[in-house]
This record gives sequence, C-alpha cells and structure tokens, in this order.
Amino acid sequence: MRIGALEAGGTKMVCAIGDENGNIEKRVSYPTQTPKETMPQMVEFFKNEGIGALGIGCFGPIELNRNSPAYGCITSTPKLAWANYNIVGAFREALKVPVGFDTDVNGAALGEVMYGAAKGCDTAVYITIGTGVGVGVYANGALLHGLIHPEAGHVLITRRHGDNYRGKCPFHENCLEGLAAGPAIMERWGKPAVELADRREVWELESDYIAQAVTNYILTLSPQKVILGGGVMHQEQMFPLVQKKVLEKLNSYLQNDAILKHIEEYIVPPALGDNAGVTGALLLALQEV
Ligand code: ADP
Ligand code: ZN
Repeated sequence: MRIGALEAGGTKMVCAIGDENGNIEKRVSYPTQTPKETMPQMVEFFKNEGIGALGIGCFGPIELNRNSPAYGCITSTPKLAWANYNIVGAFREALKVPVGFDTDVNGAALGEVMYGAAKGCDTAVYITIGTGVGVGVYANGALLHGLIHPEAGHVLITRRHGDNYRGKCPFHENCLEGLAAGPAIMERWGKPAVELADRREVWELESDYIAQAVTNYILTLSPQKVILGGGVMHQEQMFPLVQKKVLEKLNSYLQNDAILKHIEEYIVPPALGDNAGVTGALLLALQEV
C-alpha cells in the first residue's frame, strides 16, 4: 500500500509518500499559508499518488479526543488562519482514506522508537528545541495523550541568577520554551542562535535550562532514552554540557548504569534526521488502518 505522510508545521508542510516498512520514497514541501491556499496543493499531491491512508503529525495544540466534536482540529494556535481548522476532516473528505493524527512531536517520538535512536524502547522522550519547544512521550509501548497531550515544552524552570531576559512565552514567566527556544536565544543575545556558536556563555546557560527540564522528564517519566532534536540542538557542543548537568542535577539519586555510566548513550540526538517527522506521520497512518 502507498501511504501518505504529512508533517504539518507552522512554517512548512512536508508531504511524503512511503510504504508499510517506513521507507520514504518521495517528499515535497509547501509553505504554510492559509488553509484555503495550502490545503488544495496538498490534496492534489496526495490524490495523484493514490494513497490508501494518510498520517498527520501536526503543530498544535490539537484536539485528539475522539469523543470530542472538535477531534482532528488544530485548536488555539497563534497561526490564526488555522485556529479551529479541522485538518483531519478536510483530508478525510477530500481523499476518502483513513487519517491518523497526533502531535508532530508524538509522531517524531514514534518514528525514533520504531526506526531510530530509541529503537526497542518501550518508554522514551523526544524533545525538539526549535522555534518552540515540544515534547513527545512514548510510555509503556504507546504514545501518551492523557487529558489533552503533553505540553512539556512549557515546564517551569528556575531562572539562573543574572539572567535578566524577561522570556518569550506570553503565558509563563519562566518556562523552558520562553527562556530557551531559538527566538528566546535571539532576543536575549541579540543575534540568531546559529551566529552565537562560539559564545561559550550562551551554551552554558542554554544547556542549564535544557538540563533542568530533562532532569524533570527523567524523574517523572523514567524514559529509557532521551532524544534532543530541533534546530537549536544542531549546536552539538551542547550534548556533553547537557549530559554533565543532568548528572549533576540528579546527584546520583537514580542508581542506574544507563544514566551513571552511559549518559552519552542515554541523552542523544535523533537518528532519523530530516525524515523523522514524515516517518512518524507514516507510522500514524499505519496505526489508523
Ligand atoms: P521549527 O521549530 O520551526 O520546526 P527548527 O527545529 O529548525 O524549526 O528550529 C528553528 C530554530 O532553531 C530557529 O530559532 C533557529 O534560530 C534555530 N536554529 C536553526 N539552526 C540552528 C543552528 N545550527 N544552531 C543554533 N540554532 C539554530
Ligand atoms: Zn510557556
């Protein structure tokens, strides 16, 4: 069966075609404009490919409760043209195929668990630090949804003494996304993160905030693998910093060799690279059929 996969992002929509084994054979990308402009382009692409199912890993927040009349909608996004838009309903109607649906980060977590850095784990956390911070959780062999879905990018962290930056999140004074996502780095230091690569103090602070959150995820969810992705984590010098700081913050409380002896294999980058999102979406389609 040919399967459609959509990684729906606030900036671009990546549409791909793949198969039951997670292979991606083709991908195209459209800028995220309004549904009126962008939906017909995507529908046209998938129609021409003759797919039997579609999976969507979507920016959020989204409604995942199947008992809700709003199931399949993007809900309160700042991308106003997409607020309350029923993306699942629209694709079902246009393509007449089953449509799997979850958050972009849950999709990526699923992809990494099935084919990537967390292969074989039954509990793993995927964190992306990019324009925002998102966290996908795979727990006891299934994606975690709960009441809505985890929004662990907004966990509250302790502002470091001397960091007077007010934070970028309109809801929280001191959440991880507001203090540590790409736009916060840019606003605090006055330059895009990529141009700050050689400024030690930038990554020292950044890795401290990430390590605080990762420590909390480890204590709360007991993951077998912690995956850190997203544009900001392209600063690879941060991995050893985050690993060291997590060990310091845990302070030997968790007596497990995976953490104490093999931290560099425990907190890792994603293995699927650019295909993580669409591979996850492909798996969401398969879960639906
Ligand atoms: P998105 O979150 O929009 O899906 P990304 O994960 O690429 O996309 O994140 C974009 C953010 O990551 C931007 O804020 C950008 O400044 C930052 N970024 C991208 N590349 C790098 C890099 N090499 N080093 C540091 N920051 C980066
Ligand atoms: Zn927040």
